Amino acid sequence: MIFTHDTEYALGTVVDLINTGPAAAGTELLGDLAALRAFVRRNRFSDVGDLTGADLARVRGLRERFHAVFRAEDVPAAVRLINEVVAEVRARPHLTDHDGYDWHVHFFAPGAPMGEHLAADCGMALAYVVSAGELDRLRTCAAPDCERVLVDLSRNRCRRYCDSRTCGNRMHVAAYRARRREAEPKAVGSTEH
Ligand SMILES: [Zn+2]
Ligand SMILES: [Zn+2]
Repeated sequence: MIFTHDTEYALGTVVDLINTGPAAAGTELLGDLAALRAFVRRNRFSDVGDLTGADLARVRGLRERFHAVFRAEDVPAAVRLINEVVAEVRARPHLTDHDGYDWHVHFFAPGAPMGEHLAADCGMALAYVVSAGELDRLRTCAAPDCERVLVDLSRNRCRRYCDSRTCGNRMHVAAYRARRREAEPKAVGSTEH
């Protein structure tokens, strides 16, 4: 494990969030409250009350700012972005073991609106990435026509493709075909007379 499990979990949430955006997905996948509720469910947010249009707007705003961290030119630029996000929340760090998860730290204040929850916990997860000197683990998919993001949590930093399943496979197939083409003898009929 590269980071603590709650940090890695929050990073997974950041990736999922960014990949709902038009800039990454090519289309808006967080179009309404139903989509936001599905996002909350699949990332197992705890302690989220009724969601409103204001929550949706705030979450989409955060999505842009988190995406900017992935695309930051250098560490100081990423630091500026992350500090701005976490400075806006009323953080109240506390240990919790909700839903059968082992003890971990939440940064958001209990009862905080969804956007604040996201800004505090995901913002701090990104802060840990920078403080561990691991910013280069935040990546954009290496497939040429894919703008989705990923966090490389592999020990040897070898992950290049997003989670969409298709990308990694697609690129492996392309690489395999290219190798085969190279290995194959020249096509019949190409012999010069
Ligand atoms: Zn938790
Ligand atoms: Zn991809």
